[in-house]
Amino acid sequence: MDPFLEFLAHLPARFLNGISFEAMRYAMGTLSVFGLVWVLFAPMLKSRKIRTTPHRMKQVRDELRNSFITILVFVTLDVVIFDLGARGVFRLYEDIGLYGWVWFLVSIPVAIVLHDAWFYWTHRLMHLRRLYRTFHMTHHRSHNPTPFTAYSFAPGEAVVNYMFIPVLLLILPIHSLALYTVMTVMIFKNATAHCGYELFPRTWVFHPVLGCLTTVTHHDMHHARADGNYGFYFTWCDRWMGTEHADYLDRIGLQLAADIERRAARTAGKPVAADPQDVPA
Ligand SMILES: [Zn+2]
Ligand SMILES: [Zn+2]
Repeated sequence: MDPFLEFLAHLPARFLNGISFEAMRYAMGTLSVFGLVWVLFAPMLKSRKIRTTPHRMKQVRDELRNSFITILVFVTLDVVIFDLGARGVFRLYEDIGLYGWVWFLVSIPVAIVLHDAWFYWTHRLMHLRRLYRTFHMTHHRSHNPTPFTAYSFAPGEAVVNYMFIPVLLLILPIHSLALYTVMTVMIFKNATAHCGYELFPRTWVFHPVLGCLTTVTHHDMHHARADGNYGFYFTWCDRWMGTEHADYLDRIGLQLAADIERRAARTAGKPVAADPQDVPA
């Protein structure tokens, strides 16, 4: 059969497979964070809740609708770029022996660091006045994010976010299992960054090495003010470029002091003060 006709014949099945794979990935990340953080451990995490303002159901409905559109965009790009485009140009490989185990293991953090840089710069670009409305405003409609904000993008932003993968595979040889690992880390980081509860130990923020990891509060402050704190995994780019919120460290420091005070009050059997969590706009 003509290769193009064969491609067309397989298109419906390819689309359905792609949608189920992407929907599974989204559900795996968002539902597990929702179930664990918002339901199972919510009573234990009470003092970790970042905002006191309640969420509206309409926001979650909009986020789910936008996420469905994002999944359709991802699957369409999969088909256009990887199936219709020349698969041979990408350096995705299956045989670990080709580049060895060391590269297999190293390629995962390398891809994550490169993704962080991609995310920071494309994110900053999408905050430019000319691009913001078309590309990024949909994501910021979730002023007070939920785990389902993870894929709540306008189609243009979904394309920008997706394009990291083909660009990565043009530059570096990546084993398919390493790629799936990176994509799994991506969705979990994305869902937790929007979960509304601080999950990281606050002391990490002041640690010389661990302080380079972005906390949930870091991205929450970005949603509250719609500027600054553009990084995804790491604080490096924000610190190098001077875009980290000036009060980020102070805010975590105050919460840390409140944690210590509460612990001392509990030990002494005194009444425990409420936690001043809300991110100032
Ligand atoms: Zn966000
Ligand atoms: Zn933004």
